[in-house]
Amino acid sequence: MGEEHQDGIGEPDGLDRLWNPHRMAYILGESKPADSSSGECPFCRIPQGQDDTGLVVRRGELAYVVLNLYPYAPGHMLVCPYRHIADYTETTDEEAAEMADLTREAMRVVRSVSAAHGFNVGMNQGEVAGAGIAAHLHQHVVPRWSGDANFMPVIGRTKTLPQVLTETRRLLAEAWARD
Ligand SMILES: [Zn+2]
Repeated sequence: MGEEHQDGIGEPDGLDRLWNPHRMAYILGESKPADSSSGECPFCRIPQGQDDTGLVVRRGELAYVVLNLYPYAPGHMLVCPYRHIADYTETTDEEAAEMADLTREAMRVVRSVSAAHGFNVGMNQGEVAGAGIAAHLHQHVVPRWSGDANFMPVIGRTKTLPQVLTETRRLLAEAWARD
């Protein structure tokens, strides 16, 4: 498992992680676009591949949901339009509506499989606002549990991930399909 290649999307946050086989992708520098074109964009590339290797949880008509390769918490998902647009104001009414629907469904699915206590939901618009991949719009859906911001990320700069991402993806995708 530790040698397995994992494709995916994410924004490295500089934290080291315990027991995370997907760290290899980070070490290799994958998912870091060389420029802002769609050809370099992981959010454009991922939906063209397999769900399991790309960590795609759900595909809609105009938008899709993918696990963050660098999760802040287990089940951290990103809701993205298929279209390579940077800004929320560039969405069509239909894209905005589907992103909203997928966000609500993502919250319901996470609650059904993990009983999350709360969520952080939102978009970072522009690199100045913290978007790691600013060229392609994405909404974060981050499940939160009481006590999840414990001393380890602060003191040790280390996050523990209770589940391997591929297993998390499977759990969420299957729960979503049952809805
Ligand atoms: Zn893109």
